[in-house]
Amino acid sequence: MHDSRWRCLCSRESQMHELDVPVLIVGAGPVGLTMAALLADQGIASLLIEQRDGLHQAPQAHVISARTREILASLGIADDVLARVTTPPADARYVTWRRNLAEEDIARIEIGGEARFVQLDAVSAKRSANVPQHHLERLLFEALSGRTRCETRFGQTWLDAEEEGDGAVSRVEDSASGEVYRVRSQWLLAADGASSSVRRGAGIAMAGDTNLAHMITMNFEADLRPLVKDSPSILFWTLSAKAPGTFIVHDAARYAVFMTPYFPPHEQPGDFPVARCERMLRAALGSADVPFRISSLSHWTMQAHVADRYRQGRTLLVGDAAHRFPPTGGLGLNTGIADAHNLAWKLALVMQGRAGEGLIDTYGAERRPVALANCEASVKNFHKMREVTAAMGIDDRRLPMLGRIRSSALARALPDHVRAAIGGVFVAPVEWRTRRIAKAASTRCAAIRQRVQRAAEDQMAHFSTVGLDLGHAYRGAAVCDDGTTAPVAPDPVREVCQSLTPGARWPHFHLAPDTGVAYRTSSHALLRPGHFLLAGTGRHGAVCEPLAASLGTAVVGVNLDLAASHKALAQVVAWNDGHADAMVLVRPDGHVAWRSTAKVPDLNEVSAVLRALLQVTPFQPTPRSQGNAMTNPMDMFPLPSPDPQARSPRKLAHVVLATRQFEASIRWWSVVLGARTMFRNEMLCFLSYDEEHHRVALINAPTHSPGKAETAGVDHVAFTYGTLDDLLHTYARLKSHGMQPVWSINHGPTTSLYYLDPEGVKVELQVDNFESASELDAWFRAGDFATNPIGVEFDPEELLASHRAG
Ligand SMILES: Cc1cc2nc3c(=O)[nH]c(=O)nc-3n(C[C@H](O)[C@H](O)[C@H](O)COP(=O)(O)OP(=O)(O)OC[C@H]3O[C@@H](n4cnc5c(N)ncnc54)[C@H](O)[C@@H]3O)c2cc1C
Repeated sequence: MHDSRWRCLCSRESQMHELDVPVLIVGAGPVGLTMAALLADQGIASLLIEQRDGLHQAPQAHVISARTREILASLGIADDVLARVTTPPADARYVTWRRNLAEEDIARIEIGGEARFVQLDAVSAKRSANVPQHHLERLLFEALSGRTRCETRFGQTWLDAEEEGDGAVSRVEDSASGEVYRVRSQWLLAADGASSSVRRGAGIAMAGDTNLAHMITMNFEADLRPLVKDSPSILFWTLSAKAPGTFIVHDAARYAVFMTPYFPPHEQPGDFPVARCERMLRAALGSADVPFRISSLSHWTMQAHVADRYRQGRTLLVGDAAHRFPPTGGLGLNTGIADAHNLAWKLALVMQGRAGEGLIDTYGAERRPVALANCEASVKNFHKMREVTAAMGIDDRRLPMLGRIRSSALARALPDHVRAAIGGVFVAPVEWRTRRIAKAASTRCAAIRQRVQRAAEDQMAHFSTVGLDLGHAYRGAAVCDDGTTAPVAPDPVREVCQSLTPGARWPHFHLAPDTGVAYRTSSHALLRPGHFLLAGTGRHGAVCEPLAASLGTAVVGVNLDLAASHKALAQVVAWNDGHADAMVLVRPDGHVAWRSTAKVPDLNEVSAVLRALLQVTPFQPTPRSQGNAMTNPMDMFPLPSPDPQARSPRKLAHVVLATRQFEASIRWWSVVLGARTMFRNEMLCFLSYDEEHHRVALINAPTHSPGKAETAGVDHVAFTYGTLDDLLHTYARLKSHGMQPVWSINHGPTTSLYYLDPEGVKVELQVDNFESASELDAWFRAGDFATNPIGVEFDPEELLASHRAG
């Protein structure tokens, strides 16, 4: 076990090492990784432990929903990065039923057509996509590696835990050394998957349908393009008794998965050695010409279970640890990631002492009903799938009998090839019949094929789940019920009605391009990690920004009259039942918490609502000081609101500047950095754009003498951006605020834009030109810097134009 920045103690009695961490997350699957990243972004440090030696090498899930993509985007996983590991949409257009992969289609449905995406585009800026789970996990892990508040340790197995005081003490085993150590944490998060030992340790039971199916999974490498190019499908079902199952074609040129059922008690996973799997896979491919290599075999049991509760003391369940669904519907991972998103902000606020602990209980109260609904839908899909096989005349309830025959004591005594031949005798009639149905031109066979096609078309709810994905409206203590009910779509699985009803997901609509955002920017761009959003129209619109800044909790205020596109604004008013004056408070997880359609905004109500949601003690006005009519000093000043379009820098601790132009400087720094006012009074203003409490502090010093260019002291302050794109975006944004750089220079190590604040302080906004410190070192050693240590000036307008042109 390596040393770390966690507090490392040595327990006297046991001589056992002990770590002290705020949150321990068990399991680095997609949900544990997401959880750690979300917590880090909200200022909460965690230790993530995983029993495996590294990330998964083979996929399970493939469908990631629009909602999951919205959450990934909030973690900074860019669309183009995700696109690099996504199965191209053109290769995932259909779901197809064939006897085997080499034969013609018996039935096919289109799941990735443009019509479906148009439906999706109306409700989200993100389209669902097929991303092999192991690639997604790698992206999440990379995202995590760039965050300082989380440490991931592989080869560490969680053994057990005990509650002690306000926390849990876990025992963890390091698989390399065999050492067992203790981890004390305020919260223990079980993200350890379907057979969660943390859940069992906490005594939480699961309920639901058990052992729906038993499956062997074959991960294999092959170039399947010759077989599938005429029907580019993400899934192929084989309607066959010889090799019944499902192909998931993650990458037709390189690798795929074949899953086939086995039938306990007659068969066990051990009855499927590589040689037998190769024979089955060859039969399922239906071609002797396609070479393949099985890279791994695994087995799993299909369950439909949801935990009785999501919390026991300091232990919380997320992802498959809380629910395990049949994969029919592609809802498991997506539900798990939405769990993490729901929990992270609540946990962060409670741990930071800004919310009462009761807020944590709203997590299970909100997410468990979602799991129950998604579990039910997945089970329904699983059973309904049988209708296609049945239409083909295959009674798949007879398949277990085949398993029994193949594994009877008599058959086991026979050599493999004889045993296979016996199986063949029973399979042959089914194979003969399905071949005839698939190929014969007779009216009877054509009618059967039509029946199969109709049964396949009836499966759309399995592959089109935007309603389940985006349609949940939460109720309970973390939502202020206004007596309205979120509208429900006619088909709540496949369709969604967006609304501003408390509990519903903040709807997707477009922002106005003339406010400095790109054409068709989504309303979801207004949401900031860990922040509430206060958005209003009409009389409420104008007060949102100053009110948000005065609330004391992280709230971004937006006047939708200015921010929303013309068309969207009409829609927003319609969502508010025609009320032009309205205000909504949106939670950090993008669900509407509260709405007001009062004629006149009631500012005290917003503050009271926030306190109620966060379950903090009722607001007690502080006694008024003499001669001061205001209870909150923040109310005394107009507070600039951050520009929602700002892309903020990555680094800098803080800078303290004395200024004679206090108000102008506050405005200037807030606009340039997209910073919030953390505190201010007459003397001092703290501004921050990230987890740091203050990055820039301004001291009101009206009597200070002006700085002179030649005065020694601070020369300039520099902020580093993540990418050139972010820097140029900032250039364009500041230009729209009338701010121009005074100097644009490529220093060699950095590309830099220098601005002057109201006091004339030089502020360098920069991006690194080199990927790593070692590349930069090599460049310095090459001597270019010594020859020209200042750099080369450039025209930012030209750079912007060439950057935009690619
Ligand atoms: C064939 C198939 C297809 C699927 N397709 C989809 C799909 O398209 N879309 C979808 O949304 N879902 C799909 N799913 C479901 C999806 O794979 C799971 O829901 C998802 O993996 C759950 O993620 P998780 O992080 O909660 O758990 P897991 O992915 O199971 O991760 C849990 C981690 O915890 C670790 N762990 C366990 N015990 C310990 C311990 N004691 N100490 C330390 N570490 C431990 C494990 O090693 C593991 O890495 C599919 C599942 C299958 C089987």
